[in-house]
Amino acid sequence: MFGVVVCPRCHRAKGVALSKKTTTCSCGFEIPVLPSRITARVGTERELIDAVRRASAELAGGLAEYERVLQPRKKKRIGDVHARVAALAMKAGDRAHRVRAAAIELSNELEVFSVADLRVVLSALGILDVDESLDELLRANVVYEPREGYYRAVTPVP
Ligand SMILES: [Zn+2]
Repeated sequence: MFGVVVCPRCHRAKGVALSKKTTTCSCGFEIPVLPSRITARVGTERELIDAVRRASAELAGGLAEYERVLQPRKKKRIGDVHARVAALAMKAGDRAHRVRAAAIELSNELEVFSVADLRVVLSALGILDVDESLDELLRANVVYEPREGYYRAVTPVP
C-alpha cells in the first residue's frame, strides 16, 4: 500500500510506502507517516504518482482559494483599528488629550466614526463617559458630524 502525506512544513504532497514510519520531504523535513496524515491510499506505485499529482493540485487549488478568501481580510479589520487607535491615544497625555487623539486617529483610520467606535476606544482607555466626551469634542470643534451619527475630526493630523 502506498499513500500521500502532506509535509507540515512546506505543505507539499509526497508519496510514501505505508510500511514506512517516516518519509523525508524534499524540503528536508522528516514527515511521520501517521494514519491521520495520509490523505490518499493507493495500491500501486503507478497510482501513487497520480495520487500525489492530484493532491498537489488540490493543495495548489486550496491555496489559491485560501489566498482569495484572505484578500478582503487585508482591508482594515475594525477590531484592529480600535486597538491601534487606543494604543496611540493612550500616549496622548491627560484625559482630554486622549479623547482628542482617539477622535483624530479614528478619523484617520475610518474617515468617519460612530459613537460605538468611540466607545470601544475610550473604554479601552478607561474613559466611560462617552457621550460627554463626544459633546466636549463637538463643542471644542475638534470633531463635526458630517452625517447623522457619524463624526470626523476637523483637521486630522497624524
Ligand atoms: Zn516539506
